[in-house]
Amino acid sequence: MTSPAVKFEPEKAKSLTEQVIELSGQNLLACYQCKRCAAGCPVAEETGNFTPNKLIRMIILGEGEKALNNELVWRCVSCYTCGTRCPNNIHTARITETLKKMAKKGHAKVLRPRVANFHKSFIDSAVRWGRLNEGEFVGCYELKNTFSFLKKLDFVALFKEHLTQAKLGIKMLKKKRLHFGFQSSKGRSEIKKLLKKAERKAGL
Ligand code: SF4
Ligand code: SF4
Repeated sequence: MTSPAVKFEPEKAKSLTEQVIELSGQNLLACYQCKRCAAGCPVAEETGNFTPNKLIRMIILGEGEKALNNELVWRCVSCYTCGTRCPNNIHTARITETLKKMAKKGHAKVLRPRVANFHKSFIDSAVRWGRLNEGEFVGCYELKNTFSFLKKLDFVALFKEHLTQAKLGIKMLKKKRLHFGFQSSKGRSEIKKLLKKAERKAGL
């Protein structure tokens, strides 16, 4: 008798599935693997064809470690294409967001630290001002990347990173897409409260 390709532990699978359903608000159990989501995902090539349907299957099978740390979770651009194509209204972007938060909470090793830095800098800036201030946001993001590279003593990667970002910054400035002032929105205290409430709900 051959051993099964997938090791299934019912309790582990139940707990992971329930947790992701609760935190993401998406009914993973409704997925019947039609792959309509997979056909439209713009980052499929970047994720080695690790598509939304595969991620959902992994969660339902209780493969927590792989579900928290795979290319789709860290490369999903939250375009919501999968959700609009899904006959069961399952938005994988909400699932990937949830898994990122769960990875952070569990102090799991992050597969794409730059994505995590981008995510954190974006949220911090948006919550601080009630809107995004590009100059401050990019500054914080690059500071985090610099520390990450310095920690690994990877000076070549650090130089490449700054060169790439400088080129991108010049292009954006020319197109008037990068602003250095500080603007805040009137409702920023409400945004802070909403985030705190969401974090409490997610147990962060
Ligand atoms: S489109 Fe929806 S039902 Fe079909 S595989 Fe994707 S998530 Fe599952
Ligand atoms: S939201 Fe994420 S998973 Fe869904 S299609 Fe867009 S990139 Fe792919």
